[in-house]
Amino acid sequence: MKVGIIGGGAAGFFSAMAVKENYPNADVIIFEKSRKVLSKVKISGGGRCNVTNGCTSIPELLKAYPRGGRSLKKVFHVFSTSDTMKWFKSRGVPLVVQDDNCVFPVSQDSQSIIDCFLKECRRLGVQIITHAGINAIKPKAKGLELQFVDDARKPEQFDKVIVTTGGSPTLIGLKWLQELGHKIETPVPSLFTFNMPGEKVRKLMGVVVENAMVAIQGTKLKAQGPLLITHWGMSGPAILKLSAFGARLINETNYHFKFQVNWCNEQRNDVVFNTLQSIAEQSPNKVLANVKPYGLSERLWLFLLEKCELSSRKKWGELGKKGMNKLTNILVNDIYSVDGSSKFREEFVTCGGVSLQSINLNTMESKVCDNLYFAGEVLDIDAITGGYNLQAAWSTGFVAGQLK
Ligand SMILES: Cc1cc2nc3c(=O)[nH]c(=O)nc-3n(C[C@H](O)[C@H](O)[C@H](O)COP(=O)(O)OP(=O)(O)OC[C@H]3O[C@@H](n4cnc5c(N)ncnc54)[C@H](O)[C@@H]3O)c2cc1C
Repeated sequence: MKVGIIGGGAAGFFSAMAVKENYPNADVIIFEKSRKVLSKVKISGGGRCNVTNGCTSIPELLKAYPRGGRSLKKVFHVFSTSDTMKWFKSRGVPLVVQDDNCVFPVSQDSQSIIDCFLKECRRLGVQIITHAGINAIKPKAKGLELQFVDDARKPEQFDKVIVTTGGSPTLIGLKWLQELGHKIETPVPSLFTFNMPGEKVRKLMGVVVENAMVAIQGTKLKAQGPLLITHWGMSGPAILKLSAFGARLINETNYHFKFQVNWCNEQRNDVVFNTLQSIAEQSPNKVLANVKPYGLSERLWLFLLEKCELSSRKKWGELGKKGMNKLTNILVNDIYSVDGSSKFREEFVTCGGVSLQSINLNTMESKVCDNLYFAGEVLDIDAITGGYNLQAAWSTGFVAGQLK
């Protein structure tokens, strides 16, 4: 059996190795269009590669996927986070689970993952061909023919093909798969930071709030976690999570929308009001500048006081109900505007791609083209940060590699 894998990234390597484990006599070839394989794995997790997440509960895991969540259930029952950890450990890559459940190689270097894959491919006999972009798949009476971008290269016949070309930022990049009959969900960015050119809060760049809640006004979309103020706006896990869950909706606003920051992650106004009141009762003669509620940093606290027009020299005991209400409101419901898409990309993934409606999730085989399988980010699957995107690549790659 001859198997072609289109794309030498995370999903491509994982599916190629799975095919060879299942069919040791198969000829397995990875075709990579660029000069280098696994280049995203190399830069992933800031060069450390957040290879998976420590969460082992499948229902919990599914919550990390704004797109694909429920559909991944079947796939995770075959190969999940604990299988990933076993897979790497048994191949000589020890892993460490951080306090935030992100899992990294002990070496803290993504090269360990790449070296492991290259060694496994050598051991199993997977061929890797670079500078080999594919631009068409032609169904034949028996199997599939792959055509190369380079006209000089003759088309090749395969019994089975796995498409692992990763996320495409444009619809045009998915046309060749659409032409085969697959439904395509229009790609839009996910996991981006917020660009806030008109907001004075940017002068606080570098300030981190450990547990904030952010929400898009007029929607039910919200996220919580650490928030980082940057020189262009806001970033950090809470913002990235909100961008992932709101990816389509935000795209529809053309990246012009208002969102709300709850600096103390306490949804009930009365609770915040009471907290402020007890500070006033305990320290009536201290000035506002000197007692910072909810562990807020000095810079942020002074900024918020100025924003709600309260003097930092005012005493807590002089605040009164009106002052308390102003403070409560700014802590719970501080509004900011995003204006334009961010040029500062963090962990950028694509929302959209080949629709899961076109895929049999028991096998990852296409429903519209026999002998053609899919894995990884080319599919309409994406997750928040935390190792979940690579986990989707490993899991779908593993299932596709069964060639069932
Ligand atoms: C900066 C950054 C950091 C990230 N960090 C993390 C992290 O720490 N943890 C995590 O879980 N996720 C992370 N992600 C997301 C994760 O890297 C991706 O979700 C994952 O790499 C997707 O794997 P893939 O194999 O589907 O696609 P890719 O890794 O993108 O691989 C696709 C490959 O196919 C090749 N290709 C494309 N078209 C063709 C063609 N027509 N012919 C031949 N070859 C082709 C491409 O050149 C590429 O090498 C990060 C992403 C970025 C951008």
